[in-house]
Amino acid sequence: MYEREITVPSRSSRPSGSSRPSGSPRPSGSPRPSGGRRRRRRRGPAGLLLALALCAAVGVFLFKNPAPAQAQNGDGRDAPSAGAPDNSAGAPDNSAGAPDNSSGGADEAGDDGGLLSAVKPEEPVPSNGVTPPEAPQEGPDRDDWRLILVNPWNFLPEDYELTLKQLDNGHAVDERCYPDLQEMMDACRADGLSPMICSSYRTQEKQEYLYQNKINRLVAQGYSQEDAVAAAGTVVAVPGTSEHQLGLALDIVDVNNQNLDESQESTAVQQWLMAHSWEYGFILRYPNDKSEITGIIYEPWHYRYVGREAAEEIYSQGVCLEEYLGETEG
Ligand SMILES: [Zn+2]
Repeated sequence: MYEREITVPSRSSRPSGSSRPSGSPRPSGSPRPSGGRRRRRRRGPAGLLLALALCAAVGVFLFKNPAPAQAQNGDGRDAPSAGAPDNSAGAPDNSAGAPDNSSGGADEAGDDGGLLSAVKPEEPVPSNGVTPPEAPQEGPDRDDWRLILVNPWNFLPEDYELTLKQLDNGHAVDERCYPDLQEMMDACRADGLSPMICSSYRTQEKQEYLYQNKINRLVAQGYSQEDAVAAAGTVVAVPGTSEHQLGLALDIVDVNNQNLDESQESTAVQQWLMAHSWEYGFILRYPNDKSEITGIIYEPWHYRYVGREAAEEIYSQGVCLEEYLGETEG
């Protein structure tokens, strides 16, 4: 009996109502055509169908509900990755699609299998599939004059040319970084501090003199020539590898402590410069924990101009110039 009643209508194969026996257009709320015998025969199946429709609707609803939660969980897990915003943006789309399906499901009672299978593929797609396209990340522009890398492994370009801007104190810098330098020094002084430039642009000859002088002093201290050369290179850049030759580097000290050693770090001027130099396009070029990468000892007085945009990124990321440029071959 049940078998028969279930099989007779064979509605699972019937689309929304086009093949209804009664033929008349069926409003969604009155699926049962009138007629004595039919009514009796179909009351069972109709009730069953209603029940199935309810089950399907509830099932779909329950099935749908976890979907956004999963998407959110997925987002939460992926939060560190840059894809998160896109995922969460995709979630509303997905849930916006849900009502259509569930309302359709109520109409198309008995087709729960079809409903579920229709719903299923939609769920995983947005949570995982939307991730890859993210805001395209532009790397640093290696041709930017402000980002020229000069270090123990990268010599000053042979044809390097610059126009010097002479400062009042006898120093000189690349004229292109002068306005930002002046602004930084003015701001530091406006805060009641006394910064002093003690080294700026250097010629190749000057760098050679400083380098040879350092070697001589180390030998005088008992170093072998070989050890002296190796050690000198970490303190005074090998000629041709000094940023001072770019005209974009400055050694700045506190008037109240002009020693080029780690005591400089705690002076008021250095504290100010370490906190604010990036705002003017300068970075502390040789941080304490980056010596293995820079090849140069900690120098809490040496600042390098890289431009305001790069300086902000380098400062906020806590990286050194080599890391910023992806040139960590040291
Ligand atoms: Zn320096």
